[in-house]
Amino acid sequence: MDLHSGGCLRGGVRYQARGPLREVIFCHCSQCRRQTGLYYAATSVAQADLTLLVDQPLRWFAASEFAERGFCGTCGSALFWRPRKAGHIAILAGSLDDPSALKAGYHICCEGRPAYYPVEGALPQYPHSAPGVAIDGV
Ligand SMILES: [Zn+2]
Ligand SMILES: [Zn+2]
Repeated sequence: MDLHSGGCLRGGVRYQARGPLREVIFCHCSQCRRQTGLYYAATSVAQADLTLLVDQPLRWFAASEFAERGFCGTCGSALFWRPRKAGHIAILAGSLDDPSALKAGYHICCEGRPAYYPVEGALPQYPHSAPGVAIDGV
C-alpha cells in the first residue's frame, strides 16, 4: 500500500494519506500568500484517502465560498485545503514526513504575483488555474 505520513510542526496534527500523491501544484494567489507567507505548494489525494490520526488542534475556516483551509490551532502550520463540492483534499507538500515521493507539477494564479520572489525553471506557469482545473484547485 502506498502510504504517506505527515503532520504539523508541533506534531499535534498527524495524518496518513493513501497514494499515489498528485504532482505538487504551486499557487500564488493572495490567499495562499497570506496564509503561508509566500505561496502554497500542495499535493492532493481523494478525501476518502486521508486519515487523520491525531487532529485535536486542527481548525478549519472558510476562506472562500467554495473552499476551506485547515491549519493547526496550536502551532499555526497550514496543512490542508478542501473544496466543498469536490472529493479531493490538498495537502501541504511541506507537511509530509518523507517528501521523496513528490514531483513538481506547475504554477497557478501567477497573475498578480508580487515581484519580490522569482519563479524560474521549466515548469508551466498559468495566470489563473491550469487548463481543465477549477480555479484555486490546489
Ligand atoms: Zn492559492
Ligand atoms: Zn501543530
